[in-house]
Amino acid sequence: MPGYELFGDAERNQVNEVLETGILMRYGFDGARKGIWKAKELESDICNYFGAGHAQLVSSGTAALTTAMAALGIGAGDEVIMPSFTFVASFEAVVSVGAVPVVVEIDDTLTMDPKSVEAAITSKTKAVMPVHMCGSMAQLDELKDICTRHNLLLLEDACQAIGAKYKGKHVGTIGDAGTFSFDFVKIITCAEGGAVMTNKLDVYEKCDQYSDHGHDHKGKDRGADLHPYLGYNFRISELHAAVGVAQLKRLPEFLEMQLKNHNIIFEALKAIPEVTFRRIPDEAGNTGSFLSFFLPTEAITRAVVTEFQARGIAGNFYWFDNNWHYIRKWQHLQHGSFMHKFYPEHRAAIMEQVNKAFPQSDALMARCISSSISLTWTETQAKERGASMADAIRKVLKEALATA
Ligand SMILES: *Cc1c(COP(=O)(O)O)cnc(C)c1O
Repeated sequence: MPGYELFGDAERNQVNEVLETGILMRYGFDGARKGIWKAKELESDICNYFGAGHAQLVSSGTAALTTAMAALGIGAGDEVIMPSFTFVASFEAVVSVGAVPVVVEIDDTLTMDPKSVEAAITSKTKAVMPVHMCGSMAQLDELKDICTRHNLLLLEDACQAIGAKYKGKHVGTIGDAGTFSFDFVKIITCAEGGAVMTNKLDVYEKCDQYSDHGHDHKGKDRGADLHPYLGYNFRISELHAAVGVAQLKRLPEFLEMQLKNHNIIFEALKAIPEVTFRRIPDEAGNTGSFLSFFLPTEAITRAVVTEFQARGIAGNFYWFDNNWHYIRKWQHLQHGSFMHKFYPEHRAAIMEQVNKAFPQSDALMARCISSSISLTWTETQAKERGASMADAIRKVLKEALATA
C-alpha cells in the first residue's frame, strides 16, 4: 500500500531544494525562494496526472474533507450521507462544519450501498459522500444518478484510493469535489497532507481561501490580500509538498508493483472455493493496495485471523474489531465523548447515527479480511506469502468442517 516504503533519494532531493532556500512556507517570499514553489508545483502535477480542473493542497485528508464541505456550502442543518465503513476522519469532517453525518450500509463492494443511500434521503440531505475504501472504488454511476435525481452534491472521499479509476476517470475528480490524503500510510505520502480536487472554479477559489484564513491570494503582497470569507489555517508546508512532488512522479511505478503483488496473492486465494472477494465496480481501475476477501462465517474468519497471526503473516486487517475504520468500534462517539459543547440538536443527531444498527454491514464486515499489499515484496516473497495464507485458510476450513 504505502509510498513510505520506498522513500529515497528522489524525495530527499526535493526536500533539499526547499532547505537550500529556507523558505518553508507556500505563500509569499517571492524573491528569497528563488523560484521554488513546491506546493504550486504539486497542485499543477495533480491536475495533470489525475485530470482535475483544479487542486488545492492542504495539511491533511481530514482538512481536505472539511475544506471541501465548507467550499460546497455544507453546514448547519444539512445532512451528508456516508458509509458505515470508512476511516473515522470522514465522520469528523462532516461534524466539524456543523452538519449531520447520516450513516448508511455498505454492500459487497465495501463501499456505500446505493439502495441504502436512496432510502436515507430526507429534505435535509445536501450531499452524498462515498468513500473509495481500501484502494477500490464506490459505484459512482448509481450514486451520480441518485445525486442528479435528488439535486444533491457528490463529494468523493478518495483518501485511500489515489490512482484508482472508474470508467477511465480518476476517482476524486468525478463528483462536485473529491479529496486525497497524503498521510504517512497512504498510497503516496507527503508525511502529512491532503488535496481537494474540483472542476468548479468557484469551489476551488473557496478552498484556496478557506485553507488560509480567507486570503484571496490575488495580489503580490500577502499583507494586502482581501478576505472575502472566514477561513482557517489548513496550509501545507513546502517541505511536505516537496515529498509529494517526488512521490507523485513515482505513482505509476508504485501502482504497477502493487497490482503485481496483489494479483499474486489473489491467484493463491482464488484456488479456495470457500473464499470470495470484494466486488470491484471497475476491475481495470483497482489500485491493488489491499486484497479484501470474505470467508463463510464470522467464526471461520476469526480463526483465520488468529492462524495468520500464529504464522507471523502480518498486515491483515479485521476491520470488524478495528477501532478506527468501522462504526461499530467508534465507542468514543457512541458515548458522546466530545470535548466541547455542541448545539443540543446537533449532538443528539450525531449520537443517534453512531448508535444505529447496521445489520447488512455487520454481516459483511464480520467475514471480511483486508490484506495490505507491500511494494517491497519480491515475486518470491509474494508467492510465499500467498501460499502461506492459502495454507492457513485451508487448515481452518478443514478444522471447521471436522467440528461441524
Ligand atoms: C486517511 C483517511 C482520511 C484522512 O486523512 P488524514 O490525512 O489522515 O487526515 C479520510 N478518509 C479516509 C477514507 C482515509 O483513509
